[in-house]
Amino acid sequence: MKISKRAQDVPPSATIAVTARAQELKAQGVDVIGFGAGEPDFDTPDYIKDAAVKALKAGKTKYTPAAGIIELRTAIAAKLKKENELQYSPDQIIVNLGGKHSVYELMQAVLDPGDEVILPTPYWVTYPETIKLAGATAKIMQTDRDNSYKITPQQLKDAITDKTAMLLINSPNNPGGFTYTPEELKSIAEVLEGTNVIVLSDEIYEKLIYGDTKFVSFASLSEDAYNRTLTLNGFSKTFSMTGWRLGYTAGPVEVIKAMSRLQSHMTSNAVTFGQYAAIAALGEPADEAIESMRVEFERRGKYMAERLNNIKGVQCSEPTGAFYCFPDVSGHYGRTINSQRITSSMDFAKALLDQANVALVPGLPFGCDNNIRLSFACSLEQITEGLDRLNEWLTLDDIQLRV
Ligand code: PMP
Ligand code: GLU
Repeated sequence: MKISKRAQDVPPSATIAVTARAQELKAQGVDVIGFGAGEPDFDTPDYIKDAAVKALKAGKTKYTPAAGIIELRTAIAAKLKKENELQYSPDQIIVNLGGKHSVYELMQAVLDPGDEVILPTPYWVTYPETIKLAGATAKIMQTDRDNSYKITPQQLKDAITDKTAMLLINSPNNPGGFTYTPEELKSIAEVLEGTNVIVLSDEIYEKLIYGDTKFVSFASLSEDAYNRTLTLNGFSKTFSMTGWRLGYTAGPVEVIKAMSRLQSHMTSNAVTFGQYAAIAALGEPADEAIESMRVEFERRGKYMAERLNNIKGVQCSEPTGAFYCFPDVSGHYGRTINSQRITSSMDFAKALLDQANVALVPGLPFGCDNNIRLSFACSLEQITEGLDRLNEWLTLDDIQLRV
């Protein structure tokens, strides 16, 4: 049957593809270590599940307003005020079916063909596709390893044109594992003053920050930033609720209304009893549940980065946020390992899976072909075993490294 040009032009999500492939191999009995999955390995806390069961039993099984129940939007507004110093009314908030849906719907709501979106590397794989699906063009902004893969205010200043409709900021970053400091974000916000650039601030990893890292919401930086920013967040990462499909967007009321109109035709509301569970998630026991996961991620991230750095030809910064290490492995490009020639991140990831049963995501779909992404949302034992295999695989051959 005929497939639309639009659909033909969209590749499958590389992150999902790697995770699915690792699961498939495991099901076949292959002893695979999976560093692909961008989802917490913890279960959803019981107090959230209990709230969902209670809502189901109470008959919360019907449609709600497309943008979500007022109680949840009020609870999100209270969260944003208390934790993020952001003053939003419930009509400035829409509940979406996961943060991925928030991204797609926002692009559909604000972008037109001919618009350009500044997309710094490394970027989450879904951003360029959703930009394309809105008929707009991603203007990829290359970043430097030496600047921890962050954009500079000057770079941004030089890149803005009459066509620039949006800047995408994702901090803490997937796949980079880095976090912009409040000062860095402030200087970015200052560059935008006097322009019409909308900011999509994807803050889905806000709770997963390590060491002395500080998180600040972009929209809270100034009145100007508040007026141009759509704040995106969700329940998947913070509360280990990836399968529940709950995300949200907050921002100027006219954009939220436009998203709501689109959503009323596309999906309608997020699952009704899930919305009640989301209210509970934001309630009292939250801090405790989140902190224990955060501490464990911090321990794993530190360990993973240290081990990666000890491998010859691999360079990795210690992650300050999210749950990913994003080492530069290009020192190994040009080698032939077990008769497989490695010239790119795609070759690297494929050969590693084929030869050593370790699954990870190549950097290319994130816009950085020198890198690979390893998620540390898996046990310390798996991390140890996977890195032992990686280390062994990379030292199989004694060919001179490029760096
Ligand atoms: N933004 C980023 C940067 C992500 O890594 C993810 C993870 N999938 C999402 C948004 C969306 O997550 P979800 O759709 O599960 O809410
Ligand atoms: N965001 C996660 C990741 O990057 C989950 C997979 C996806 O939705 O892309 O792995």
